[in-house]
Amino acid sequence: MICVTPDGDWYIDSRTRNCGSPNDSKHRCWVRHGTEGGTLRVDKNGLTCSADAGSLQCGDFHGFLHNGELYSC
Ligand SMILES: [Zn+2]
Repeated sequence: MICVTPDGDWYIDSRTRNCGSPNDSKHRCWVRHGTEGGTLRVDKNGLTCSADAGSLQCGDFHGFLHNGELYSC
């Protein structure tokens, strides 16, 4: 699944640069909840690693994906 941010495409299931478990292939650096129809959010609730706090960095955009919308921080 791809999220279009103001500064490029972000692959939600990709591995973050500062992944806390770089040798583990089971976890997700961002855990998806909801559906893309409007409730989609990502956070750190689930099988994840220690990196970040659920925020995403894509180019110059840094923020969160909550309830289907991006929030910069
Ligand atoms: Zn990770």
